Formats: sequence, C-alpha cells, structure tokens
Amino acid sequence: MDIRQGRVSNPPSFRSATMMRFHVLTLFPEMFDSPLSVSIIARAQKQGLVEVNLHNIRDFTHNRHNTVDDYPFGGGPGMVMKPEPLFESVEHVRGSASLDESAPTVLMTPQGRRFDQRIAEDYSELSDIVIICGRYEGVDERVRQNLVTDELSIGDYVLGGGELAAMVVIDAVARLIPGVVGSAESPANDSYTTGLLQHPLYTRPSEYRGMEAPDVLLSGHHAEIAKWHRRETLRRTLERRPDLLESADLSNEDRRMLDELRAE
Ligand code: SAM
Repeated sequence: MDIRQGRVSNPPSFRSATMMRFHVLTLFPEMFDSPLSVSIIARAQKQGLVEVNLHNIRDFTHNRHNTVDDYPFGGGPGMVMKPEPLFESVEHVRGSASLDESAPTVLMTPQGRRFDQRIAEDYSELSDIVIICGRYEGVDERVRQNLVTDELSIGDYVLGGGELAAMVVIDAVARLIPGVVGSAESPANDSYTTGLLQHPLYTRPSEYRGMEAPDVLLSGHHAEIAKWHRRETLRRTLERRPDLLESADLSNEDRRMLDELRAE
C-alpha cells in the first residue's frame, strides 16, 4: 500500500473475479499502514485478492485551511464532520467506473448494528465496500441519511475514531475471502463460524513444566480426536457462551454430549 498526498492512495484497479476492494474514507490514512502491511492481509494484497484504497477526506475540502469539521448547530461539546467533504469523497469513490453499484456505503459508528461473524460472512461475498470513518463527535446527520446504506459498530464502547473499527471489519471480512487464509489456517473451524466456540488447542511439547497435552490428541486416532474436539467445543461454549447453543446446528449426539457435560 502506498499512501501519497493525492486523493486516492491506490488508484482503483479493475478487479478480478475474486478480488474484494475496500474503499476507506478517513482523515488519518496513515493509521492503516502497519495493520495492512503484515501477515495475512499483506499477503492477500500481494496476491491480488484484496485491495484497500485509502481516501483522505481532507483532500475533498475547498477552503484554505482544509476544514473538515465545524461546531454543532444548537451548541454542545465537540465538533461535527462537515457534510461537503464527505459527500464529495463518497461521490468520488462511488463514481469510479469499476465500482460495483450495489456496494454498500458503511458508516462506522457506535450507534450501528453490532458487527459479528455473520455480517463478516455476508460482506465477504461482495466485490466492493465503501467505509466511512468518523472522527470528533461524529458526522453530520445528512451524511447518514443520504449516503450511508449500513452502519456498523464493533462494540458498545466509544473509540476516538472509526479507523480502528474499519480495520477490524477489513480484517474479519478479508480472511473469509477464498484463498486469503491458507488451508492450514482455515477459518472453517473458527469460533462463531461454526456457531460455537472453538475447542482448546495444544502444540509441542506434549509435556511442559509438568503440564500435559491430552493423550487422545497424540494418539493418532482420528475418530477419537474428532470426538474430543466436538466435546470440548460444546463444553467451552456451554461454559462461556451458552446463548450460542440456542441457535447452533446440533446433532442428537451433540445434545447427548451436552447432557453429559451439564451433569458433570
Ligand atoms: N459522539 C458519538 C456518539 O456518541 O455516538 C461518538 C463519536 S466517536 C468519539 C468518533 C467516531 O469514532 C465515530 O463517528 C465513529 O466513526 C467511530 N467509533 C467510535 N466508537 C465506535 C464503535 N464502537 N464502532 C464503530 N465506530 C466507532
């Protein structure tokens, strides 16, 4: 990724069939440098599976001081992000010939619907997503009403800006795009993907400071290992997130195991 002074840090390319493009509108594009330059997401960009285009909202101002915020009408603390640069930057991005017209324009806001694995899965099937990162007290309401098609919150707390929240969404969505995560790191068994929490994990050494990995995992007996994984998945979910069991896809064998675990 190359953040330059210009309006568009990475000129959007015409996407390949499998490429997902994030178009992020932010006042702090440099915040994305480090998270996007390591590990899975860096590799995905190199492989052409993911593209993150950063657009500096300040580049869409027309006044001498590049003002992007102003006092709230009616008084009150803090500043509000002005509508003009946001309308112009969204229109600039959405006007790109290669952008999928049905792409959502997502506002990151603590008032949005709570982002979760289901939303990440839905979004991973799109080819373009436009994300607006708020700052200060938030954005002028007319932006929300007229430009935004979805509002996402990453949790019931207030961050200083939408950038970290956008990175959370980008990371969670990108790793679900086919080919981004190798089979060795497959997301198929991840917590929430299965509707349950993942079982505990162990690796070498089998014994460390007197603490031993479960024998069954070293046995090479695949059926027994699969049974252990399922049981411990159910145990962990029962202990930590019993609410997930209500909507999980459970077999009769799962229900029997759960009865046993409850009895324990
Ligand atoms: N005054 C706003 C309110 O009470 O709803 C909070 C503004 S917050 C200080 C500034 C920006 O950070 C927001 O516009 C939003 O883009 C982002 N933000 C803060 N918390 C967030 C969260 N939990 N999820 C997503 N975005 C968040």
